[in-house]
Amino acid sequence: MFDDAHPHDVLRWAAGTFGDDLVVTASFGDATLVHLVSQAIPHADVVLLDTGYLFAETEWFADQLRDRFGFRLRTVHPDPDAERDLWQTDPDSCCRMRKVEPLERALAGKRAWVTGLRRSDSAQRVSTPIVHRDLLRNVTKINPIATWTDADVAAHRDAYSLPEHPLADRGYASIGCWPCTWPVGDGEDERAGRWRHRSKTECGLHVSPVDHVQPVRIGAGR
Ligand code: SF4
Repeated sequence: MFDDAHPHDVLRWAAGTFGDDLVVTASFGDATLVHLVSQAIPHADVVLLDTGYLFAETEWFADQLRDRFGFRLRTVHPDPDAERDLWQTDPDSCCRMRKVEPLERALAGKRAWVTGLRRSDSAQRVSTPIVHRDLLRNVTKINPIATWTDADVAAHRDAYSLPEHPLADRGYASIGCWPCTWPVGDGEDERAGRWRHRSKTECGLHVSPVDHVQPVRIGAGR
């Protein structure tokens, strides 16, 4: 029911419905989500999940965007006792310790979660709703740019002269942790460089959304 709404309207609805119980997470692969959030709900914190394996360029880019747009950047880290370098032997456990558990800590006690998921990210995300219940985490999940295409993102970037991630012009179309991210070739999916040479396609933050959704009514919080 939100498919025709501008992301600003979705974000303002989310802020009005959930107030301080709203968590925004961003991967800082590009500026789109945090720019829209800074325009629509400038008081919102933006959470960066720092796995310990982010590209230095991503940390630099997040700081640049924070300084330019003025949002509060909150960095959430893994448990200090999380086993190191599991990406070499057991990437699913590595993602669970370094992404999923920190996310669940960031969402603890909150009612809603804003993400930058887009349907065009990958085949696994083509059915991503704008708003749905995440029954795994017991929050309302809001994906305000789910319907935006790559062309929409580029048009928004050009309209507001937004900067690009420093690795974007080196072939990195989707940017995660450095051990698990490769550049993509012409014609490849945006996320084809993530966990290249493995069957893994998702880190666990956004698993099977279509299997875990129930529609929500506009204005209906919990
Ligand atoms: S993307 Fe790679 S390095 Fe990052 S948490 Fe997952 S397995 Fe570990």
